[in-house]
Amino acid sequence: MIWGAVYGDIIGSYYEVHCTKDYSFTFQSESAFTDDSVMTAAVCAAITANPAPITTFGIKKRAREYAAQYKRFYSLFPNAGYGQMFSKWAGSPEPYIQRSRANGGAMRVAPIGYAYRDLEQVMLQVKASCYYTHHTREAVNSAKAVAAAVWLARNGKSKDDIKKFIENSFHLKLSTPLDKIRADYKFDSRASYSVPPAINAFLQSDDYESAVRLAVSLGGDADTMACIAGGIAEAFYGEIPRHIAEFCALRLDKTIKDAVNSFCRKFETEHDLSTHPS
Ligand SMILES: [Mg+2]
Repeated sequence: MIWGAVYGDIIGSYYEVHCTKDYSFTFQSESAFTDDSVMTAAVCAAITANPAPITTFGIKKRAREYAAQYKRFYSLFPNAGYGQMFSKWAGSPEPYIQRSRANGGAMRVAPIGYAYRDLEQVMLQVKASCYYTHHTREAVNSAKAVAAAVWLARNGKSKDDIKKFIENSFHLKLSTPLDKIRADYKFDSRASYSVPPAINAFLQSDDYESAVRLAVSLGGDADTMACIAGGIAEAFYGEIPRHIAEFCALRLDKTIKDAVNSFCRKFETEHDLSTHPS
């Protein structure tokens, strides 16, 4: 259930550095998990440790729990390709509030979209998960859009419903055809620049693999965009091709696997009950 995000990160990792506009790119043997997977695992760990829902008044307390897991996972994998701002934050003795506008808040929220029964709770958890590291409207809004897309997808909503909901609730523009975006798209991890095309890659996909290929082949922040598109795509399509799972499983670390698996075991039942229309 969370592997779609992690595998997107792994497949995109090579192309974050070696940008491609080629949809038919090959999976590279040098591919490796990066910060996107590490932080997704951190969110899994935070929710597994404390799955209790919160109210608006509980956001700050819950934010400290997310922050503690970010710092813990950062210390386990300090060279996973974080942005400079995040590394400085994660390496400091006490968490302070950082006002990042980047896509790091959005790349790690797939587990939140799976763990909670109602969307209102998903939104509160996203806010808490962004509180210390991405304390800006732009970053929180994008993270909410991704978690909402995962939640709507696993609850059987159509792509059209998902698109309309995100456009109306978060004011992200999702109608531009990817070919038009791709033409002069470049690497930029600003949330407002990179998250809408990543969601768009899912919306214009036919299956899990095409979502990841569309995201990577925009030629931007490939691992993060494929992580976002892949996370939503798995929630929607409900399956990942075996060849992708095998390619990525070889490139995973045990700590990350354990964190994701513990999370999946805890929330499996709900996932199994969801439906996945094409
Ligand atoms: Mg990365």
